[in-house]
Amino acid sequence: MPIQVPIDDPCAFCEYLAGRRPYTIIGRDALTAVLVTREQRGRGHVLVIPVDHHETIIDVPTHVAEALMRSVQRWAAAVARAHSAEGVAVWQNNGVPAHQSVPHVHFHVAATLAEGGTHWDGVPTLSIRETDAIAAALLAKLDARP
Ligand SMILES: [Zn+2]
Repeated sequence: MPIQVPIDDPCAFCEYLAGRRPYTIIGRDALTAVLVTREQRGRGHVLVIPVDHHETIIDVPTHVAEALMRSVQRWAAAVARAHSAEGVAVWQNNGVPAHQSVPHVHFHVAATLAEGGTHWDGVPTLSIRETDAIAAALLAKLDARP
């Protein structure tokens, strides 16, 4: 049985990358991009995504998967430094049964909450101004190396 991905047409992440819908894009190179999610489930919660549209981790070419993991590592370090975090959560969901909500593969990276863990239930949707402020704080802690 194939992975059942959510329906989102056009893809929200592709719309953000194309500049057709506003979103805070904190980093971008030829293969990957990093978004500051408006649903902060941890501190400094970002989404690491491929620039090209791939629905799940299974669909991603190997060289893109490698680039994604390098970016996940780099941003995990940045969110940890920015929040003096004792924990950093990285998670990735494929298919509706796994709670994938956008059909464009993405890794969540977030410093854990002060009380530990991350929010799994409803969180407020932040404004672009708020996610831009989160981006500025993270960029100050990003290692200059790509
Ligand atoms: Zn997409």
